Amino acid sequence: MAKLAPETPIRYLKGVGPKSAARLARLNIKTIKDLIYHFPSYYQDFRRLKQIRRLHFGETVTVKGKIAKLENRLTKRGKTMQQITIEERGAFLELLWFNQPFRLQGLKEGMELIVAGLVKKSPLGRWQIINPLLEKGKSGQQTGRLLAIYPETDGITSNYLRKVIASLLPHLSDHLFPDYFPPDWRQHYRLLPRWQALRQIHAPGSLEAAQRARYSLAFEELFLLQLPLLYRQKQERNKPAPSIKWNWTLAQEAERDLPFRLTASQKGALREIAQDLQRPYPMNRLLEGDVGTGKTIVAALAGYQISKAGYRVVLMAPTEILARQHYQRLQPLFTQWHSPIGIWTSQYRENIRAPFLIGTHALFHHRREIGDLGLVIIDEQHRFGVSQRAQLVARNQDGTYPHILTMTATPIPRTVNLVFRGNLDVSRLTDLLPGRQPVATFVVPPRKRAAAYRWVAKEIRVKKEQAFVVCPFIEISETMQSVRAATKEFDRLRKIFAGFRLALLHGRLKSQEKAAILEKMQKGAIDILITTPVVEVGIDLPRAGIMLIENAERFGLAQLYQLRGRVGRNNRKSYCLLFSETSSVKSQRRLRLLTKLHNGLALAEADLKLRGPGEVLGTQQHGYPQLKLASWLDLELATKVHQAAQQAVNIPSGEYASRWQKFLQDWQEKVTLN
Ligand code: ADP
Ligand code: MG
Repeated sequence: MAKLAPETPIRYLKGVGPKSAARLARLNIKTIKDLIYHFPSYYQDFRRLKQIRRLHFGETVTVKGKIAKLENRLTKRGKTMQQITIEERGAFLELLWFNQPFRLQGLKEGMELIVAGLVKKSPLGRWQIINPLLEKGKSGQQTGRLLAIYPETDGITSNYLRKVIASLLPHLSDHLFPDYFPPDWRQHYRLLPRWQALRQIHAPGSLEAAQRARYSLAFEELFLLQLPLLYRQKQERNKPAPSIKWNWTLAQEAERDLPFRLTASQKGALREIAQDLQRPYPMNRLLEGDVGTGKTIVAALAGYQISKAGYRVVLMAPTEILARQHYQRLQPLFTQWHSPIGIWTSQYRENIRAPFLIGTHALFHHRREIGDLGLVIIDEQHRFGVSQRAQLVARNQDGTYPHILTMTATPIPRTVNLVFRGNLDVSRLTDLLPGRQPVATFVVPPRKRAAAYRWVAKEIRVKKEQAFVVCPFIEISETMQSVRAATKEFDRLRKIFAGFRLALLHGRLKSQEKAAILEKMQKGAIDILITTPVVEVGIDLPRAGIMLIENAERFGLAQLYQLRGRVGRNNRKSYCLLFSETSSVKSQRRLRLLTKLHNGLALAEADLKLRGPGEVLGTQQHGYPQLKLASWLDLELATKVHQAAQQAVNIPSGEYASRWQKFLQDWQEKVTLN
């Protein structure tokens, strides 16, 4: 292996034929670098060499012995079983495999073996190891040490990976894998040289050594994720945007026209937005707030300022219903402010020349017609794709770029904001609106269902309550299947709630039909609204105080949280009943979090702890890549890395800067390729 490079295809390695190469490709391993960056998921500790007679059940050990007996047996079901018994100072240990006759090849009685694995009790009460690691002779390559266990695939075992990787390890050098961090940074952040970390993560001498290597490489992983992001942010800051001076007198007058007083955090958010808008580069701010904390009015006040300054604003809603709701609510206010407002959806157009325009996805096809934009507001931003967003915030004809304000009720955990958004500006609305109470939430097991229905009936009759029934979540998009499920539930409940006024709402209804149903609900002409999860997004029906959710365990926590936010929008006590048939402890525990927590960020961070990495709240939804080594819970690491990456993008040239730039180029090539 004279000329080894990170990009060298693995098929040039000894022991990798075309077949294995194809299999390794399934693990995304194509080059030497891919192979070296295929990290062990954990280590088995075979360092404890024990005498057979001192073994205990359930421990993982390494043992030496002589072969006393070896057999290839037929089992009752017609399969084969390979059994070797080894002996040491008069004590015996059985080794067992199934359907692997080759295991016995080249072995005979009296040979010395060194074996490792987990000690179990055989049906006859003997010590036994199933599928042990086995080496001939008195000392082993694999046994007697910390053994790396890798993510595997069909035909590619940890054993195989270990061998191929081990053959590469002696060749690792600073030349092959040059460091991303200058020596003084390494010292400051306590990082190993890159090549050493790579060697040590695969073949650590101790668990501490493994830990250090993993830490160094986790740091590198997050750093390389951050770098392109921060470079891009830096470029964004070089883009021109209209610098808009906030008119505080105008703002005060506008506020006076509101039927309520802004909360402290709404005011804070507006101040932050005002500051951003005065800068000569585009604002990119996330307005995050629990459902019902009043994000819309903040956006409207910001939009009003921009339109008064002579620029155009669009407010993008994820659905037709929501766009209309925004329009209905904001129109009276803007009329009062003597500022025109319009709407442009696929179904409905009014006043489309107005400087403040509300729209849906339909607007994407007309980006040019709308003309130059001063501000783009995106409601429920996760509902929009990356390319759709890009289209909206593209360069104006006059060369400037619009400011961006995104809104979400899905809280972004702090690590996620640091790592994947490069610590982009966030304004959080944390105040509960005056008079609002947290929604009392209960998990309802099957045996209590009938009683729950009786209780709901009574609440409707006596307190004139309204209820939502949300049918099981089936797919993200509204499919015929979920429509059918809701229709079936509607028929079932019509019998149970005979004498009440029930209605059915789903995404396949025409928008006039939907609007009519929502209006009836608003007026109190419906008692129970059965619906698919389409109600999740932003609908405001303040009279409704009860929500029943079917098969609650099928929803994500963030989604349940959003659904629950549909009630509790008035000053009476509201209820959320989570129906669940599951007996899974994990699901139950997740649902119970909702009964206890009423703050979005706390819930998101609790969810983070409960779930494994990769399935973290919102990360798949937002399309963030999975982390190999770094942990979502490690705010401390994320903060350090962010600091380092920030420092890096401000170093314009030099040995390390050129390495970072090279990484960036390769990265961009990869991104544009697929
Ligand atoms: P969300 O943050 O979920 O988008 P909305 O903007 O729909 O919430 O606001 C929910 C309701 O609260 C609306 O009817 C809105 O008019 C009202 N609201 C907003 N801010 C306040 C406030 N400071 N005091 C009282 N009510 C408010
Ligand atoms: Mg909203």
